[in-house]
Amino acid sequence: MKKFLIIFLSLFIFAGSCLAETVVFNVKTLKYHKPSCQHAAKCTKNCIKIEKNEAKARGGVPCKTCGG
Ligand SMILES: [Zn+2]
Repeated sequence: MKKFLIIFLSLFIFAGSCLAETVVFNVKTLKYHKPSCQHAAKCTKNCIKIEKNEAKARGGVPCKTCGG
């Protein structure tokens, strides 16, 4: 029974990490990009990788090119 619980929990954590979308967030312009976006690649100074929800919570605006 304990083993089942561990498997269930690890599956749940795995699914959660898949659903959480990571974006490249510019802390200066407050724009967030998909990691594949050309602007994300150029942004090295003020950009951090965080979850999309976190970027939105910080007042982030989706990039017009990639849509965030
Ligand atoms: Zn972008």
